[in-house]
Amino acid sequence: MDHFLYRDGQLMAEDVNIAEIAAQVGTPFYVYSTATLLRHFKLFDDALSGMDHLVCFAVKSLSNVAVLKLLGDAGAGMDVVSGGEYLRAKAAGVSGDKIVFSGIGKTREEMRLALEGGIRQFNVESEPEMEVLSQVALSLNTVAPITVRVNPDVDAKTHAKISTGKKEDKFGIPISRAREVYAMAAKLRGLKVIGIDVHIGSQLTELEPFRLAYRKVAELTEQLRSDGHDITRLDLGGGLGIPYARDNNAPPLPREYGALIKEEVGHLGCEIEIEPGRLISGNAGLLVAKVIYVKSGEDREFLIVDAAMNDLIRPAMYDAWHDIVPVIEPVAGVDQTPYDVVGPICESGDTFAKGRMLPPLDPDALVAFRSAGAYSAVMSSEYNSRPLIPEVLVNGDQFAVIRRRPTFEDMINRDTIPEWM
Ligand SMILES: *Cc1c(COP(=O)(O)O)cnc(C)c1O
Repeated sequence: MDHFLYRDGQLMAEDVNIAEIAAQVGTPFYVYSTATLLRHFKLFDDALSGMDHLVCFAVKSLSNVAVLKLLGDAGAGMDVVSGGEYLRAKAAGVSGDKIVFSGIGKTREEMRLALEGGIRQFNVESEPEMEVLSQVALSLNTVAPITVRVNPDVDAKTHAKISTGKKEDKFGIPISRAREVYAMAAKLRGLKVIGIDVHIGSQLTELEPFRLAYRKVAELTEQLRSDGHDITRLDLGGGLGIPYARDNNAPPLPREYGALIKEEVGHLGCEIEIEPGRLISGNAGLLVAKVIYVKSGEDREFLIVDAAMNDLIRPAMYDAWHDIVPVIEPVAGVDQTPYDVVGPICESGDTFAKGRMLPPLDPDALVAFRSAGAYSAVMSSEYNSRPLIPEVLVNGDQFAVIRRRPTFEDMINRDTIPEWM
């Protein structure tokens, strides 16, 4: 459920008319709904009620500082994968003891940053990383709390580019070697082992892979405890999927996911962390664009819009589907036409949808791409020298620009011409 609905024939973001935002901010832009973000966070928080838990928002899905502050103020922790994301979480006012540091390639500088600024735990992904983290912690006269990310060799049944829990994926250490690796961690004086971490992939639409993975984590918890490790925290990752197409089968609900967690690991008495990104932010955002031209090809109609693959790369990168809706509500029963919806970039990959059924649209009509809150603005670039597009946050009947559109000058002045020229 989200808060982007038609009212009196106009698409709204909560109580704000989207056409009104477009008139003030210009197109294209991203718009996010406060009520939807908070609602989705609360669904997870409630799903784990009765267990000691922390819901850590996966910052990489939507990293605007205003969004992080909104969720942080509501009680969320943060899951970060870089020094930049760590600093964003801190800039949003989240305290270090609610920030978890994930990722396979943490540098010494990033480790130092987090150890000095405060960190809940590092999710360590390899033996070399363990050794470096121990050294960095000792050099700062401190001890780094860690979990080890284990790879449970479970098929998440999701898109190959976002599957992370099979043995051929680059993430974590094989669960079969976990006891050996924990024994090594226990010997490193700069580390304190506190738990286990697992994350098997993103956009999962079934619960079974989670069940298989968490069952293996429960087994490992008992083994590690019998080996003498003090396992008090389980980080169970993110990955619960969202419906991208309205007529799709809906993925499992956070409530069902929470019940599964209780069933599989509830008896262990551990503090539970989860790291959802997409389910919190995905359906809390729209990309709004304007039709530039309607072009008739030999056997198809092209809708050329002012947003492009640099603004939203998911269709080009993952063959992702985004529902596309006109901002002015179509008259009931109006004939629909198949359009290829494309951006202006000089690549055939700059195609958002092929043969998409839409009511007839004219130049200057506004369209909204739904489910564009997660992995959308954060993956944008300035390819074709198209400045990054603004982000807008709506709350009830108010809205604010939370990242402004750079001017062409801002963009060009980041380059410098060497003195010798
Ligand atoms: C990407 C990622 C997440 C979030 O995944 P979603 O599918 O957005 O819920 C959580 N944890 C880790 C380690 C990740 O890499």
